[in-house]
Amino acid sequence: MEIKRVMVIGAGQMGGGIAQVCAQAGFDVILNDISEAAFEKGLGVITKNLSRGVDKGRMTEEEKNAVLGRIRKSTDLSDAKEADLIIEAAVEKMEIKQSIFRQLDEHAREHAILSTNTSALPITEIAAVTKRPGQVIGMHFMNPVPVMKLVEIIRGLATTDETYQAVEDMTRKLSKTPVEVNDYPGFVSNRVLMPMINEAIYTLYEGVASKEAIDDVMKLGMNHPMGPLQLADFIGLDTCLYIMEVLHEGFGDPKYRPCPLLRKYVNAGWLGKKSGRGFYVYE
Ligand code: NAD
Repeated sequence: MEIKRVMVIGAGQMGGGIAQVCAQAGFDVILNDISEAAFEKGLGVITKNLSRGVDKGRMTEEEKNAVLGRIRKSTDLSDAKEADLIIEAAVEKMEIKQSIFRQLDEHAREHAILSTNTSALPITEIAAVTKRPGQVIGMHFMNPVPVMKLVEIIRGLATTDETYQAVEDMTRKLSKTPVEVNDYPGFVSNRVLMPMINEAIYTLYEGVASKEAIDDVMKLGMNHPMGPLQLADFIGLDTCLYIMEVLHEGFGDPKYRPCPLLRKYVNAGWLGKKSGRGFYVYE
């Protein structure tokens, strides 16, 4: 199946980035959010990113305008009828994703593929609310989308080979590298990354070392570009807690229990960089 027009749901941090890379790769993009204000905010971030590219000589002003010209506003999910591939990047809540997928299933054309950028929610459970579970798949982009090469492609229980192949081909057209993964809690990325971050929080909680020392060990000793506690602050501590809860519940294994210190910080509203304070303080 040839993908010509893409619809992205959610113009936030991830959806905006996904819309940008799709438009840069020459695809027509319908960018949907719940309000015009949310769309404009997302488009503002895309415009700023592209302008930075112009300033750095990576693209011309004309190219920037051409990319922006390929992104169309939508505040109505029925616009899905015009898309061949839909990439959902709204908030990480199962009820919201299922409600969106129900509506997309109703409006999208028969051949259209419905994908989700969920960080950890089961693809199979999202697919189950549609009448086309074979055409539902996970497309897990990494943050920041324009920079990071990986797209983890997650097959739900019913995802067909044809759907997988179309999404893998599309990912390559976006100059990203697809990696095939099956649908289990946390997929591969967050199943490996989050327990490491959680363990780093336990080492702080138990007084094994200071936050700076823990981050230095991982940066200087393991060649990680960023220490796990700083990375947790960048991801958002609420997101980290949520993913640990998905792993804990999904596997029923106590090894995934979230560190009490992580829960305490989230309850205090210390969510990391976005709230100005997490393990570190941000201006
Ligand atoms: P965000 O809060 O920046 O953006 C979410 C956007 O979705 C907002 O603009 C919001 O207005 C919009 N939205 C909410 N409900 C909607 C609806 N019903 N219809 C249309 N739009 C709606 O969040 P984000 O960080 O971009 O995350 C989006 C998704 O991507 C989540 O599922 C998240 O788990 C996943 N994800 C996030 C990251 C990350 O590092 N932030 C990485 C990979 C995947």
